[in-house]
Amino acid sequence: MADTSDPRTPSNFIKAVIEEDLKAGKHQGRVATRFPPEPNGYLHIGHAKSICLNFGLAQAYGGTCNLRFDDTNPAKEDVEYVDSIKEDVRWLGFDWQDREYYASDYFEQLYGLAVRLIRDGKAYVDSLSSEEIREYRGTLTEAGRESPFRHRSVEENLDLFQRMRDGQFEEGDHVLRAKIDMAHPNVLMRDPTLYRIRRAPHHRTGERWCIYPMYDFTHCISDAIECITHSLCTLEFENNRALYDWVLDQLDLPCRPHQYEFARLNLNYTVLSKRKLIQLVQQGVVGGWDDPRMPTISGLRRRGYTPEAIRNFCERIGVAKANSIVDIALLEHTVREDLNRRAPRRMAVLRPLRVVIENYPQGGVEALEAVNNPEDPGMGTRTVPFSRIIYIEQEDFREDPPKKYFRLAPGREVRLRYAYFITCREAIKDTTTGEIVELRCTYDPATRGGNAPDGRKVKATLHWVSAGQAIDAQVRLYDRLFVKPDPDEKVEGKTFLDFINTNSLETLDGCKLEPAFADTAPGAIYQFERLGYFCMDGKDSTPARPVFNRSVTLKDTWARIEAAEQKQPN
Ligand code: ATP
Ligand code: MG
Repeated sequence: MADTSDPRTPSNFIKAVIEEDLKAGKHQGRVATRFPPEPNGYLHIGHAKSICLNFGLAQAYGGTCNLRFDDTNPAKEDVEYVDSIKEDVRWLGFDWQDREYYASDYFEQLYGLAVRLIRDGKAYVDSLSSEEIREYRGTLTEAGRESPFRHRSVEENLDLFQRMRDGQFEEGDHVLRAKIDMAHPNVLMRDPTLYRIRRAPHHRTGERWCIYPMYDFTHCISDAIECITHSLCTLEFENNRALYDWVLDQLDLPCRPHQYEFARLNLNYTVLSKRKLIQLVQQGVVGGWDDPRMPTISGLRRRGYTPEAIRNFCERIGVAKANSIVDIALLEHTVREDLNRRAPRRMAVLRPLRVVIENYPQGGVEALEAVNNPEDPGMGTRTVPFSRIIYIEQEDFREDPPKKYFRLAPGREVRLRYAYFITCREAIKDTTTGEIVELRCTYDPATRGGNAPDGRKVKATLHWVSAGQAIDAQVRLYDRLFVKPDPDEKVEGKTFLDFINTNSLETLDGCKLEPAFADTAPGAIYQFERLGYFCMDGKDSTPARPVFNRSVTLKDTWARIEAAEQKQPN
């Protein structure tokens, strides 16, 4: 866990690096970071970790954080993704001001720098096929072999590279490679490809280019152009650092950024890779990138997770150098903690059972006072109508109650929240199906507000909704999208798609909401008493029928895990 108790104590190793650099007077005391998404999908909770880290460091040290689109792969990228990324970063609470950059804006500069490498004899045009290049590269234990094209003259290389740019060749005919060392112990340093031919229009540069720079060439130079000081990326790029440094060493640009790697976020019961998330979308496993079951920022938002909860989560998991898997229960716990403070309470019945209170006056309605949030008296109270016909949850009645079932049963008395004690007199059944369709109950008028003047106790308190004033709603109950803690684990003949939880969505129609919901706006989040937290869906709600998505249940498995850990002496 991150130690944030003392603001002067670096809570992660990157802060320690920055503080050393500041002390040593590096980068003229500047801290400049960037968040560099590739616009080839929607952002997910793993990106949130990177966003919180990069923008958070800039904030903490009075620096800047750029938003940079790493858009060098025209085939997979799209403006839809650019727009969603901007929306998500903003929603998370971060501001890049006017520092919105695109690697594609540097294409001309990158080309010029590639030409410089060729002139310096540090890059060459290779005409091997991609399979041959792979073959020549060697393996971890075996040195690679030099391409027969490696010793082309500078003039020939310049001419071929120009003609690659001019569109005189087909994809795969040639690539531009760095001339480093085909026997280098780091395979990535064996003459890596810097440019390839791609005959695809780019979402920003259109048809202007048919050669595109590779990530390893683009990223470090983009960082240098923007004068980034600390370039943070995930651990998979550890081996790329040598190449990052090599390119910058050859070019001697005005700024000299450094790359640091941190552990990516992994969450159990989840996949966090755009390549996999896009499959879930394209194969219709989910309703879209913003399906509330998706670990995308837009999915979590639609589900009712707040930016504060996501930022708190990122703070709690900290930033380490070793990969680990975070329990999704911790994310849910953080959301619950946040919503508990902010979400007003309301009563909603998801699977209604009609209750007639026989001794309550026909046509009578009274207004009872209900507390909006016991955690925050400032949120005030509201009135809830009570009448002769109400709904309770089907599962709050049992004809034959088992031991320890204290809710309603024939002859038993329970409390209706904020209202009265009621006693069940009779269960009416459908004559053909035998299903219980209605309860006949009586109430004790002396228990108004939920307490008996004679001090008698009841063992259960139920939520309820008055039938005459109820609002009909659809409620969607979400569960984990995967049945296995590690859906990515290699299993013979299976992929992550084989571990989808087919019961991850349950849609309930005909749910009953108390009338205080009438002026609810999409995106509003409530605690439905006894049921969990629910967020009004912005896409599918209509004035006549609101739709609510369950954010989280009230059952906090993380709190239980934590409590158990504290009990264990270690
Ligand atoms: P994915 O594997 O989901 O496709 P990516 O790394 O290809 O992710 P980018 O758009 O290149 O996606 O990522 C932008 C930034 O977010 C990078 O700096 C990357 O390191 C970081 N990032 C991506 N996934 C995670 C994660 N799971 N945890 C932390 N940071 C991440
Ligand atoms: Mg990437």
